[in-house]
Amino acid sequence: MTSPLVIAIDGPAAAGKGTIAKRLAAHYGLAYLDTGLLYRAIGRLAHERGLDLGDGAAVGAVARELDPASLDDAALRGREAGELASRVAVHRQVRDALTSFQRAFAVMPGGAVLDGRDIGTVICPDAQVKIFVTASPEVRARRRTDELLAKGRAVDYGTILAEVRERDARDAGRAAAPLKAAPDARLLDTSEMDIEAAFRAACGIVDEAPYRDED
Ligand code: C5P
Repeated sequence: MTSPLVIAIDGPAAAGKGTIAKRLAAHYGLAYLDTGLLYRAIGRLAHERGLDLGDGAAVGAVARELDPASLDDAALRGREAGELASRVAVHRQVRDALTSFQRAFAVMPGGAVLDGRDIGTVICPDAQVKIFVTASPEVRARRRTDELLAKGRAVDYGTILAEVRERDARDAGRAAAPLKAAPDARLLDTSEMDIEAAFRAACGIVDEAPYRDED
């Protein structure tokens, strides 16, 4: 019997993991979940309600009532939502409230790709393929700056680099499910790659993985 393929993609912000994950899902015919959107939606909702984002119990209650159908909102993809997300994502109550939804998504009969920070370590430790996508902070900040400039926003590289470093430190330094590569993850450093090359490298990792379950 063959288990449905589950691909776990983790890594810091702006390393290219979202684009790679989405393209892998399309290429292998798998469902795709951007788990960052869950944290972004909770951060925004908690902020709109005027909650103290440091209050794990209060923000955890927001997480428990989140409607995953509400994630299709362009505003969630912005910088502010990313910042709010990383502040609420430190709370164990928030993470616990999202675990069963993410795991249920991962066991879809047709297989799935999930991207986030703790997919290979906490959410899907048994995923057949784990990829940790990274790039230097300077390269990530440059990409983010160029993306924003292309959208006509006035942004400064130095400010974006500071934000990238601050987010990395918060995500990697928290006690609850910190950002880190699973011991069995393959590392994909995209610093010197364009998105095409990064996608091809990711496909190579998937194709080489011994993911056929012979049970
Ligand atoms: O990936 P994205 O930039 O949308 O994530 C926003 C923030 O949400 C991250 O900086 C991180 O703090 C949090 N997050 C997380 N665990 C995930 C996905 C996102 O802690 N699985």
